[in-house]
Amino acid sequence: MDVCPICKAAYAGQGSCRRCKSDLTQFVTIEGDAREELEIAVAALKQKDYESALLHGKRACSLKHSKLGERLILYARALGK
Ligand SMILES: [Zn+2]
Repeated sequence: MDVCPICKAAYAGQGSCRRCKSDLTQFVTIEGDAREELEIAVAALKQKDYESALLHGKRACSLKHSKLGERLILYARALGK
């Protein structure tokens, strides 16, 4: 997370926003979970487990939308046919 999702101030990674003082720890946790799901999806895609890649790609995007997650879903759908 580069910026605070509340006020868009640059986020330095100390748990709360330096400007609006919002507690951002849950956002950081969700972002970490999304990254983990992406890693699982990439690993599944490499092993040609397209069903698992699709599942974890979708989970990643539901936690935090990303271009990589979108592409993983696209590849898993196309290759899984
Ligand atoms: Zn803020």
